[in-house]
Amino acid sequence: MSERTLVLVKPDGVRRGLVGEIIGRFERKGFALVALELRSLARETAEAHYDEHRSRPFFAELVDFITGGPLVAIVLEGPGAVLTVRSMMGTTNPAEADSGTIRGDFGLEIAENLVHGSDSLASAKREIALFFPHIDP
Ligand code: UDP
Ligand code: MG
Repeated sequence: MSERTLVLVKPDGVRRGLVGEIIGRFERKGFALVALELRSLARETAEAHYDEHRSRPFFAELVDFITGGPLVAIVLEGPGAVLTVRSMMGTTNPAEADSGTIRGDFGLEIAENLVHGSDSLASAKREIALFFPHIDP
């Protein structure tokens, strides 16, 4: 069934000039672009986005990082988008991510892992509403 999911090319991906590479992978896979925006996140938006991690030791650092430069927010659509995007990203820690995944091919450490993808259909709906309130989640 066709789904929508939120993808972020995080500030490290933008800084390193990997926006085209990362979006290109999703386009070549066959996903449709529904929304796409280069933007800087307000602290409150970043904290809301990562609300589930609020009590984790890395939370402050994570919010500093994700608000530290422009990122690219994208809504992708396609069959099984949530799961397929997650598998194309690779595991959270790029050091352990498989080659052929975005994190496995371009990342070295967990804090700067290049991409975000919604982890469930419920998360996708919540995150799309947060980033693109005018778009049907
Ligand atoms: N993160 C971190 N240190 C950790 C775990 C996570 O800096 O020990 C960051 C990393 O950028 C990760 C984000 O927090 O992408 C959200 O963590 P999550 O476990 O949800 O990973 P993801 O869903 O992004 O794979
Ligand atoms: Mg997550």
